Parts: sequence; C-alpha cells; structure tokens
Amino acid sequence: MSAGSKTPAELLSGYDGPPLRIMEVCGTHTHEIFRLGIRRLLPPQVELISGPGCPVCVTPVGFIDEAVWLALEQGVTIATFGDLVRVPGTELSLAGARAQGGKVQVVYSPLDAVDYARQHRETQVSFLSVGFETTTPASCLAVEQAQRLGLGNFSLLTANKTMPNAYQALKGSADVFLYPGHVHAITGTGLCEDLAGQGVSGVVTGFTAGELVSALAVAVTKSREGRPFFYNAYPRVVTRAGNPAAVKLMDRLMEPCDSEWRGLGTIPGSGLRLGPDYAAYDARLKFHMPKITGRANPACRCGEVLQGKCKPSDCPVFGKVCTPQHPVGACMVSGEGACSAYYQYGGDLT
Ligand code: SF4
Repeated sequence: MSAGSKTPAELLSGYDGPPLRIMEVCGTHTHEIFRLGIRRLLPPQVELISGPGCPVCVTPVGFIDEAVWLALEQGVTIATFGDLVRVPGTELSLAGARAQGGKVQVVYSPLDAVDYARQHRETQVSFLSVGFETTTPASCLAVEQAQRLGLGNFSLLTANKTMPNAYQALKGSADVFLYPGHVHAITGTGLCEDLAGQGVSGVVTGFTAGELVSALAVAVTKSREGRPFFYNAYPRVVTRAGNPAAVKLMDRLMEPCDSEWRGLGTIPGSGLRLGPDYAAYDARLKFHMPKITGRANPACRCGEVLQGKCKPSDCPVFGKVCTPQHPVGACMVSGEGACSAYYQYGGDLT
C-alpha cells in the first residue's frame, strides 16, 4: 500500500471519505480490536460491525440439545472445549446436564478427547466438533487416530461449518469484510479474489495490533478508489494456495452438508459431516439420534448481532439480565463472542 509517508494509524484516523461499514467476520478480530483500543482510532463515519465468525456463537441451540440428549439419554460422555459448556440449550446447557448426572469432560483438543476415550474404554465418548476450516482438520485427525487405535467408543457430534456459502449469505451486510486469517491460512485466498470479482471487497488479516490497524487502513484507503478489491494483509501466514494437506484431509473424511447457523438459518452446503467411510464415528448415526430442533430464548438477539444487523448494546437484556456470569445467549458465553467483547471492553466504544 502506498500512501505517502503516513502510518497506517494516520491513514485510518484521517479517513474523510463516505460512511464505511467494515465487518469483522471473525470473533477474535472483534475481541482484539476492542482489547487493543483500535476503535479509538476510527473516524466517526467508519463503523465496525461484528459478523458470524465465532464457532460457538453460530452453533444453533439444537446442537446443544443434541449433546444434552447424548449425555442424559444415552449416557455418553461429552468431550468438549470449555466455552460450549455454558451455552444455553432449549431447556439445559451442558453445565445443567452435568448437574443432572450427565458426564461432560472439558478437553483442549480433539486428540485429547481420543486420549480420554482410550483411557475410558468402558464409556462412549463423543467430541463436540464445532468450528470452521481452521479447526475441522484437527477433528479429522482425531477420527483417524481413533481408527488407528481401534477405539469403538469414540465419535464426533459435528457442527462444522465452511465459510464460502456464509460469505454469499452475508453479501450486502457490509462494505468491506475483514476476513479471518486462520481460515484463509487453510483455504487460501482464491475465494476472496472470486468475491472481489463479484463486487465484495475484503482484506484478510492477522491478530496483532500492527496487522489489524494495517488491514483497516488498507480497507479505508482502497475503498476511496471506488472499485471492489481484495488485499492480503497477512502474507506471513496466508498464501493463495492455503494448506493443501489440511484441505485434502477434510476432503477425505468429510462431505458437505446443509448447516444451520444461529441467526443466518440453514445455509445449503455450508457444513461438513463425516462421509460414509467414517459413519461409525458419526454420533448421530451411531446413537440413532432423533431429529432435535432447538428453540432460542426469544429475548436474545444473537441472530441479529451475528448478521451485523444490531449491536450487542442494542439488545434489551445486554449487561442487565445477560452477563458473562449469567449468559442468555451464546454471544455472551464465548470468548470470541461479540456480546462478551462489548461487555468486557465497553459498549460505549460503539
Ligand atoms: Fe443474546 Fe445476551 Fe447478546 Fe442479548 S446480550 S444478543 S441476550 S447474548
């Protein structure tokens, strides 16, 4: 980017163009922008809106209900990352299921869950596999490891999602997308270039203060040119080719499926589930799970927050009934959730 001798921070704060809405697709970007005080650099006509890139936040209520059903009705030990434990289901969170005698084991990786299953062969263990292209390869590795070890007591409950169709569904919700660097480290940037060809502008970036400010400076500077653009502001990690080995692994074990996103509804082809060769590791098939449809708390506006249609502070229960200690919706539970970021770092900086 060439803009005289101005620093990225000066370019950003000196922007005097028309109003610009930039969507942080990734929840970690939302948190880091708040935490690092970057919002203070923005001129008034640049608005940052949060998107759906927090895996816990976009996981629908019905998925929690499915996990609760496995724990309470089938006696399955649920292995999960900690932030899913307090996400409300229709009636119960996993913490509530645990209080009723369900077994919930917090793990730090899918391979930890396999290890737990190896050490507890008398119990069925199901890992809650959520997340985007960034985390799905690790779930695939876990299934391969379980197969290698001959474990008949390990399965995945999948809610894995992919970004391409979500970007299509989000078209028009912002002037510029701030693309998640870790997703595109896997998928590469061809998709973003295609989107620019369809009129959707975006910048892929990392997570440090320098990377985020530079990306926002690129966004405001290139927007002035009046043409759709894509810019890779994270070249130390993201390449055009991405990570072909990880993509190949996902293609081998998983197949596309329709997927429900909290707030966005069901997006055709936007999910991944285990393919027929790995059906024995699919918890829904293994335990003959009935169709379970969740019901979100009607007071919660997570769905609109995730589409950039409202800010967390617009939700009537934000900070009153809904707090990190007593979350009403997923966006307040997750460490990447927009409501949690607004609560922690100050909803006044909106
Ligand atoms: Fe949902 Fe709570 Fe956020 Fe409101 S503040 S949208 S209830 S998570």
